[in-house]
Amino acid sequence: MDNKGKTLIVIGGGAAGFFCAVNAAKNNPALHVIIIEKSSKLLSKVKVSGGGRCNVTHHCFEVEALIKKYPRGQHFLKKAFHHFNTTHTIQWFEERGILLKTEADGRMFPQSNTSQTIIDCLLSEANNYSVEIMMNADVKQINKEADLFHLQLADGRQLQADYVCIASGGFPKPEHFSWLQQLGHNIELPVPSLFTFNMPNNSITALMGISVEHAIVKIIGTKLSQEGPVLITHWGLSGPAILKLSAYAARELAQMQYHFAILINWLPQYNEQTLKEKWQLLRSQLASQAIGNKNPFNLPTRLWHYFLQQADVNADMRWSVITAKQQNKLIQTLVAQPFEVKGKTTFKEEFVTCGGIKLSEINASTMQSRIVPDLFFAGEIMDVDGITGGFNFQHAWTSGWIAAKAIAVA
Ligand SMILES: Cc1cc2nc3c(=O)[nH]c(=O)nc-3n(C[C@H](O)[C@H](O)[C@H](O)COP(=O)(O)OP(=O)(O)OC[C@H]3O[C@@H](n4cnc5c(N)ncnc54)[C@H](O)[C@@H]3O)c2cc1C
Repeated sequence: MDNKGKTLIVIGGGAAGFFCAVNAAKNNPALHVIIIEKSSKLLSKVKVSGGGRCNVTHHCFEVEALIKKYPRGQHFLKKAFHHFNTTHTIQWFEERGILLKTEADGRMFPQSNTSQTIIDCLLSEANNYSVEIMMNADVKQINKEADLFHLQLADGRQLQADYVCIASGGFPKPEHFSWLQQLGHNIELPVPSLFTFNMPNNSITALMGISVEHAIVKIIGTKLSQEGPVLITHWGLSGPAILKLSAYAARELAQMQYHFAILINWLPQYNEQTLKEKWQLLRSQLASQAIGNKNPFNLPTRLWHYFLQQADVNADMRWSVITAKQQNKLIQTLVAQPFEVKGKTTFKEEFVTCGGIKLSEINASTMQSRIVPDLFFAGEIMDVDGITGGFNFQHAWTSGWIAAKAIAVA
């Protein structure tokens, strides 16, 4: 290590910035580490994340399975996760006395059930390793002359550093990246990810609050589809299948200006053909029963009655007297119901930006810029984003840790 007396400035006091700063300071006590945060709050997203409980990471320990949870950045993360992955995150917090627990869906939270535990841990690590923190300090410009970075703050202050790690989070508009483009970096255009679908005036919204455990949602005209729980809301559709689809299709849906059509298979164990076959059996088994009373697919009763209405089937009709036309319409509604989507609603529980600094310009094993030596990146500023479930924080920890390690030994 020959960086004694050198300075690292980390831009951004979020999850990635703190993880980079505290690990760099711990790994190399001779390094002077400063976090610069433009707002008057530190770790503000950690605070509100996971409904105030902070979904720190996910119970997924195979790199191949883990990278599939990231619509953007899979190839890049394959390398990065070999250095620091979910196992390391759990261990890192455990070594600091924070035990994580796993919920049925794989999300991992601090056992204390409060994000404050994670915040306290990161603040105490910063204190232990003498990380300096500057708040209300908005970096507007960075120049590199000879071997030194010169940072210009909005209030006129100027700072110098030997190393800079940019951990400023996702930006929703291309112009927010101009200070980074001036350094020679290029971006993938930012568009929202993780949103729900608006279906104004669609009659299904009267069933708000009802969810189906397993459905397949497909975007018509594309090969994009996702499966999982679907929740009917008062504005349209939400739930894990919709959120995943919004993430994997983020670019295509932005191009369509959020006006597109979907098909839902409410009974994914069947297709039209196999459901027709099953129908023959049901029809003879349930012949004398009223179709409204007997829902053989375990769908919520109000939803079953809605499907019957859509197919012009009276709930009092017996199974045996349903016409072929009604039967075909009902089968079609159950396995391929079309909906028009007009607009999106930001998922406020866990919103991220798709896009950011191009990954081809960053070394995944060090997080160092391939364009500007001694410049590093961590977190959502890069063109990496995950689906909901703790994957976005995992990327923040991974990239922050890798950058820290590379800077500490630089
Ligand atoms: C409501 C909500 C809940 C979420 N819940 C979860 C969850 O439970 N699990 C999960 O995995 N993900 C969750 N996410 C996503 C996750 O919070 C982000 O992916 C993660 O916080 C990104 O970390 P980051 O450090 O890269 O950026 P951020 O947390 O956004 O931090 C960046 C910091 O940089 C500062 N900054 C920006 N520009 C400058 C500048 N020019 N100068 C100085 N400072 C600057 C910002 O003020 C900010 O404090 C949630 C997101 C939201 C919005």
